[in-house]
Amino acid sequence: MSNIILIAPPAAGKGTQAELLSIKYDIPHISIGDLVRASVTDDDTKNLLREGNLLDDDLICCILEKRIQKSDCKNGYILDGFPRNLKQAKMYEKLIYKLNFDLGIIISIEVSKDEALRRVLGRLTCNNCGAVYNETEPTMIPNENGTCKKCGSILERRSDDNIESFMKRFETFIEETKPVIDYYNESHDVHFIKSINIETTFNEIDNIIRNEV
Ligand SMILES: [Zn+2]
Repeated sequence: MSNIILIAPPAAGKGTQAELLSIKYDIPHISIGDLVRASVTDDDTKNLLREGNLLDDDLICCILEKRIQKSDCKNGYILDGFPRNLKQAKMYEKLIYKLNFDLGIIISIEVSKDEALRRVLGRLTCNNCGAVYNETEPTMIPNENGTCKKCGSILERRSDDNIESFMKRFETFIEETKPVIDYYNESHDVHFIKSINIETTFNEIDNIIRNEV
């Protein structure tokens, strides 16, 4: 199995796809957002995250370096939310060179800003089991009483799922993350996929992986 890098604007379904790939190929889904949230314990940094700000690239790389050396990554891993900017992409190149890892398969999932906003405003997550729901997606609706279908816990909105934070995250994607796609596209095969619905998008990604491995 190979490493997989998923790059997409907010609400393209990147996390959901990463989770499905993780199950199918039995390799870990490394969500940088979750990894950083779990590593950050002080309130000031938590507030920065809530406002849609991003943490220092060196700190993120340092957290990631430890994570990808764990034994569950030996057959590959899926990166979700990294690299977020050119500096991170270049730091990551140095890191994988040092560790003798492969860059792997790079997939860009595309979605329009309007569609992404619609999805963000409907998103609900289960803090107990990590399941993700969406009030605007027929296949992702939670229980009628607003609880998780898997574990019955009450669902919550992520604190950064509001319009202001979304606009900031989407602009940041265009300004900082899109150049990463262009950068990779100069020297690697980047696979471009439209985010339509979970199943169609998953099948397209799965086809790419089976052709590459
Ligand atoms: Zn749950």
